[in-house]
Amino acid sequence: MNVYDSEVLKGILSKNGYSITDRPEKAELIIVNTCSVREHAEIRAIGRLNELSRYKLESPEVKLAVIGCMAQRLGERFLKEVPALDFVLGTEELFKLPDYLEKKEEKPLIALSFFELKEIDSSPLRKNKFSAFVAISRGCENFCSYCIVPYVRGPEKNRKVSEIIKEVQCLAESGCKEVSLIGQNVNSYKDDSNDFADLLREVSKTEIQRIRFMTSHPKDLSPKLIKAMSNLEKVCEHLHLPLQSGSDKILEKMNRKYSSEEYLRLVDLAKSKIENLSLTTDLIVGFPGEKDEDFQKTLEMVEKIEFDSAFMFKYSPREGTKAFLLEDDVPKEVKLERLQALIEIQKNISRKKNQRLIDTTEEVLIDGKSKRDKLKWKGKGRSNKTVIISDNKTDKDLLGEIVKVKIKEIDSFTLFGKVEEI
Ligand code: SAM
Ligand code: SF4
Repeated sequence: MNVYDSEVLKGILSKNGYSITDRPEKAELIIVNTCSVREHAEIRAIGRLNELSRYKLESPEVKLAVIGCMAQRLGERFLKEVPALDFVLGTEELFKLPDYLEKKEEKPLIALSFFELKEIDSSPLRKNKFSAFVAISRGCENFCSYCIVPYVRGPEKNRKVSEIIKEVQCLAESGCKEVSLIGQNVNSYKDDSNDFADLLREVSKTEIQRIRFMTSHPKDLSPKLIKAMSNLEKVCEHLHLPLQSGSDKILEKMNRKYSSEEYLRLVDLAKSKIENLSLTTDLIVGFPGEKDEDFQKTLEMVEKIEFDSAFMFKYSPREGTKAFLLEDDVPKEVKLERLQALIEIQKNISRKKNQRLIDTTEEVLIDGKSKRDKLKWKGKGRSNKTVIISDNKTDKDLLGEIVKVKIKEIDSFTLFGKVEEI
């Protein structure tokens, strides 16, 4: 969502006559978009902003802006951390930056209101021309007890089906092959009588070739949505379904509104209906009150379900959330030990699952050259796994092409293969 917001802001700024540079020494205005989900991200953002402050010391006419979740959370308090700031703009104020720039105020400007968002600007300046994020909703009102998002992004607001379709069709006409529909909880999407499954059906009717979405909250994953995923050819067979914990006691304290058994039932249903389903998740270790036996339950679920991959985090207390009021009683070293054990187990599972893909064919959207080997093309399969073309028989420019790739080698995170047909 932050990447998307940055793209939207770039679109708005360039429409207003600004040009974009990623070299701070050339910029007259330096903007840092921030995340508040974990403390670590915040510490890094403060470090980066203070480092960037030197460009202001060298040329006082340079302006420094912080935008996004952390700006929303800290507001005026941000000036204590980074005194050189000229703008502190919250998650919905950031789109008004061009207006604020016109005002030329002497004092730092702090704007944090959540306004009635009518429409998200539908011409973001995207880096990737072939695969685009399209926000279908903003904000969240699930209030998982550990999570800062509902406080910094406000209540859920859904875009109209017609506006989303217009944006997707426009993207398809400009050569884009794939869209990722994004929202904090896409499964709770609603526009009049249309739910998320209906939206998927409508997006499928555009000329876009592949459709992804994230994130899905298990409490709102309906059999209707699973059916739509299995029936709609363009929808990729990838489901990101955060589990967070395998312990019912912890899930309840997290306010997730499902039990481990309900989660397992959903996974069984999805696996039985969607052929070649790739299932990924988010997991938190060391939530307040998590005992060894709770952590063991997370491990048991992970081993039973066999996720294709997982984002795994140590619990980070966030001021203002319900969980912040609980004692952060799992010692740092225990959190780290649990995280390392979990990562190790998941790495082996990912490897085992990727192993099964050897000699199968993946449909890959090529998005650039591999960082490891600049001569090789890379892209994403329908499973959302990164695929590197290890034996490229053709000199053809494959950027933006959807190609069939026979998988020949794997590791825990990547598949390697040969192009079968173009
Ligand atoms: N809306 C999505 C969802 O419900 O899963 C994702 C939101 S959050 C930005 C992404 C992930 O960060 C969460 O799924 C959770 O695993 C993790 N997360 C959120 N708050 C956290 C915290 N306080 N400490 C550690 N991890 C956290
Ligand atoms: Fe945070 Fe829960 Fe909302 Fe996801 S669903 S953004 S974890 S409150």
